[in-house]
Amino acid sequence: MTPDPALSGLDLLAIGAHPDDVEVHVGGILALAADRGLPAAILDLTSGDLGTRGTAETRRVEAAEAARILGVPRLVLDFPDGRFTAEEAYRTRLMAEFRRLRPRILILPSPEDRHPDHRRAHHLAREAAYYAGLRNYPCDGAPWRPEAVAWVGGENPAQPDLLVDVSATWERRMAALDAFGSQFAPDATQPATRIAHPAFRRGVVGRAMHWGSLRMCDWAEALWCDRPVSPALLRLLARLETPA
Ligand SMILES: [Zn+2]
Repeated sequence: MTPDPALSGLDLLAIGAHPDDVEVHVGGILALAADRGLPAAILDLTSGDLGTRGTAETRRVEAAEAARILGVPRLVLDFPDGRFTAEEAYRTRLMAEFRRLRPRILILPSPEDRHPDHRRAHHLAREAAYYAGLRNYPCDGAPWRPEAVAWVGGENPAQPDLLVDVSATWERRMAALDAFGSQFAPDATQPATRIAHPAFRRGVVGRAMHWGSLRMCDWAEALWCDRPVSPALLRLLARLETPA
C-alpha cells in the first residue's frame, strides 16, 4: 500500500484515521465510484498500530483486501496511531498528498466522534485541504484545494445532510467491512472490544436501513457537509447514483 506515484486527479478521496474507518461509513459510496469509473481512493492516516486486536501487519493485509473488494486504491501515511497531532509537520505531509492526488471532493472522519483520533483527523484534513491551496505555503507540489469536503457521522449521528443510495453495491460494501476480521468478527479468544460486539455491526446495518427508508431505497449511506451544499458535491453524488 505504498502510495502510487501515478495516482492523481481524483474525483473522490475518502480519509480515515485508521484502516476500516472508511469501510464502516462509506464503503458503498467508494464501490459506486469504482463501478462508475470515477477516480477514487482511500487514504488511511495511520496503520492502526494501537488497535486492541490485530497487529499493524494483520490490519494492512485486511485493509488491502477490503480496498480490492471495493475496487479502489488504498494509501497509508503511517502517522503514529493515537499520537499524531495537529502540528504543522503532519499537516504539510497531508497537504503534499493532496497536492499530488488533486482530489476534487474529500470525505473526512466525523468531527464529533467518540474517538479522539477521528475528531483530530477531521480538523487536520480540513486545515490541510485549505492550506494546500495557498500558493506560497512552503510544501511540496503545486497548489491544490479540493472543491468541497463532506464527512461521515459518529455512532449516534444527527440528521444527515445528504443520503446516497448504495443499494447497488451493498453486498460488496459489507464484504469489505467483514474483510477486517481482526476488528469486527466475534472471537472469544481475543479481548472484548466495542467494535467486535455484534451490536456494532448491527448499528452499521441498521443506520443504512434507516437512511434507505428516508431515501426510499434499500440501503443508503449518509454524509454531512457545509451549507450551502457545494454544487461540486451534488454533481458527484448525481454521477454516483447514475448507472454507467
Ligand atoms: Zn478509527
